[in-house]
Amino acid sequence: MKGIKDKFSHLPEAISGLRELAYNLWWSWHPEGRGLFRLLNRQGWYLSNHNPVKMINRMDRGALEEASSDSHFMRHYDSVMARFESYMTPSRGWFCDNVQQPEKNKIAYFSAEYGLHHALPFYAGGLGFLAGDFLKECSDLGIPLVGVGFMYPKGYLRQMISPEGWQVGACEMMDRENAPIRKLEDSNGDPLTIKVPIMDPTIYLEVWMVQVGKTSLYLIDTSCEANEEENRLISDRLYTGDLEQRLRQEIVLGIGGVRILHQLGVDYSVLHCNEGHPAFAVLERIREKVEGGMSYRDAFECVKNTTVFTTHTPVPAGHDVFSYQLMDKYFGSYLPTLDLSRDELFRLGMNPAKPEGFNMTAFALRCTAYRNAVSKKHGEVSRKMWQQLWPELAMDKIPIEYITNGVHVPSWIDRRLGDVIFNRYLGRTWLEEHDQPAIWELIDEIPDSALWEHHRYMKEMLIAKIRERARIKWRNAGSDPNNVMASGVLLDSAALTLGFARRFASYKRPTLLLQDLERLAKIVSDPWRPVQIIFAGKAHQDDQQSKQLLQQVFNAAKDQAFGGRIAFIEDYDELLAQYLVHGVDVWVNNPLPPMEASGTSGMKATLNGVPQLSVLDGWWIEGYNGKNGWAVQGAEGSDRDARDASAIYDLLEKDIVPLFYDVDEDGVSHGWVSVMKETIKMSGPNFSARRMAKEYTERFYQKALEAAIKAEYRKEKGKLKVDMFGGI
Ligand SMILES: *Cc1c(COP(=O)(O)O)cnc(C)c1O
Repeated sequence: MKGIKDKFSHLPEAISGLRELAYNLWWSWHPEGRGLFRLLNRQGWYLSNHNPVKMINRMDRGALEEASSDSHFMRHYDSVMARFESYMTPSRGWFCDNVQQPEKNKIAYFSAEYGLHHALPFYAGGLGFLAGDFLKECSDLGIPLVGVGFMYPKGYLRQMISPEGWQVGACEMMDRENAPIRKLEDSNGDPLTIKVPIMDPTIYLEVWMVQVGKTSLYLIDTSCEANEEENRLISDRLYTGDLEQRLRQEIVLGIGGVRILHQLGVDYSVLHCNEGHPAFAVLERIREKVEGGMSYRDAFECVKNTTVFTTHTPVPAGHDVFSYQLMDKYFGSYLPTLDLSRDELFRLGMNPAKPEGFNMTAFALRCTAYRNAVSKKHGEVSRKMWQQLWPELAMDKIPIEYITNGVHVPSWIDRRLGDVIFNRYLGRTWLEEHDQPAIWELIDEIPDSALWEHHRYMKEMLIAKIRERARIKWRNAGSDPNNVMASGVLLDSAALTLGFARRFASYKRPTLLLQDLERLAKIVSDPWRPVQIIFAGKAHQDDQQSKQLLQQVFNAAKDQAFGGRIAFIEDYDELLAQYLVHGVDVWVNNPLPPMEASGTSGMKATLNGVPQLSVLDGWWIEGYNGKNGWAVQGAEGSDRDARDASAIYDLLEKDIVPLFYDVDEDGVSHGWVSVMKETIKMSGPNFSARRMAKEYTERFYQKALEAAIKAEYRKEKGKLKVDMFGGI
């Protein structure tokens, strides 16, 4: 592969396959891959935070040679490499068997963030994990797709909480040398550099690649030498509050991204814009066709019929609007190259309900033929929200469909639950066939005690992890004792444990459980049936309001009145998310309806048998069936927070706590385990990334690919005519 020949120069020839393996995130969702690295260096695996590139870089040649002459290790090595190679065979998979040969007609997927692994911090939250899970699933199914995104050198916020409970995050530079990521080079071995000439001064892009199984993800980096200072900062960090910088980012992502694919010779005929951020890619695709001799009209139709757009949120701040003045500044010299007038462009991005700027979502909706929201409810909300773009249509005819989100099952299932319990009771092929509902009916075969004991173990693991983090904090000189106490030191693995972890944003109401502190104190401090709550999540650095919510939660965690039964865990990331969705007893979600377009963390929890207690919004409207968790019908009117909180306390007091503690003589709460089983049965087949990726393919990609083939055919026919005339 390009760009990794010179990595791991100390690797003995006999195990040189580890280079390819370490630089392919395949290992992150295949336990045998992780197991091989753990076998190579158990301590190093732990100390590198499960990052094989970092681990191998830190090993010396002697240790590697020792492994390569150890027959036990080599047997594992050979078997894992054989499985890896077989997985990577391009002509394998569902897409190939059911749709078409994958060599041609790739799909280019553009997203501003990707959540793939904690060693690659290019994400803020749910949108990123959705995109990351999607790339992994496309690899598993053999869907021929490439990803395009941003490399944010300072994307990563290390969250620390001051003694006053204030988030004082520091941006940490990503350690590129030790991450499973490679810089692409040109044929001379220099960094591949691509120009975005429409801006003055010209922006230069370098490109990094992450190999996600069979899927390649290209990441744009502007922090290169060739750029002027101002331009170097474009890819600095995710979702900057500075609108001009944000516009520049979106130009680089959309237009720069298409140029990169062109330069790399990536043959794709369908574009998928994940959210509005990369939508300028549409313009560059049109420009390429106009340059090739097509009229603007034809190029627009052709691009529209081969582009998919997914909208992800009803929250107004999630839809970028740029002033016309800014648009003029950046697009003035670009538009003539597309044969597009300023007025025409602005009409494409106009939101009739708020015409004072260029709206990226309105633009994306007008320029794409396949549009979707991310849950059934979000479909309704989006049709209402964007009805004004199609004033002649009735509400239910507004052309925005929905494809409900899903999570990548191999990434989010606990390894032991999958390998030990599911393999035994669902059959060894359960993972390959996990979108078949019949497989999941077998969940009832699992003995209650097996599931209950497994879950208790996961809870012990979670609490041990939290205590270890608190211990590290406590060892730091000058650490504040109350602050350490708030980090989960007193958590008790026998107590009913609720988890609330996600980005802190006001519509997610992270303080809702704290509405009535007295009532809450009574619930958590019941000496016979105690309840504890674990909170985690980051606020955006520029979002003071969310930082205040976080402070309220942190102060409750510090409050002695709760006796250490409320905890706030710093620095929520993918690794902590894994522990939490496997280990808490109940996953709590209480957004302000209908603002939660889908939500995915609850899918991760329910897949692992952790039932959800959630306000009915997003995916839970489809997921809740009365047997598999608890639901609160969001209240209407002015005191809705108080009423929603009260409904949640009611459920805890009357249903959830009594059921959990209703333990039989065998030590198992059979009633609870039956809810756990219903939870898995509902989640496994319906809310997987596999179901989602197949829906995108069957409902959108296939049609878009056909449209591309037709357009190609017309073009060829057109050429034929020209040639004939030329011949005459
Ligand atoms: C899944 C996930 C999210 C999304 O959570 P929601 O509650 O659905 O918004 C955010 N952060 C991390 C680390 C995740 O794994």
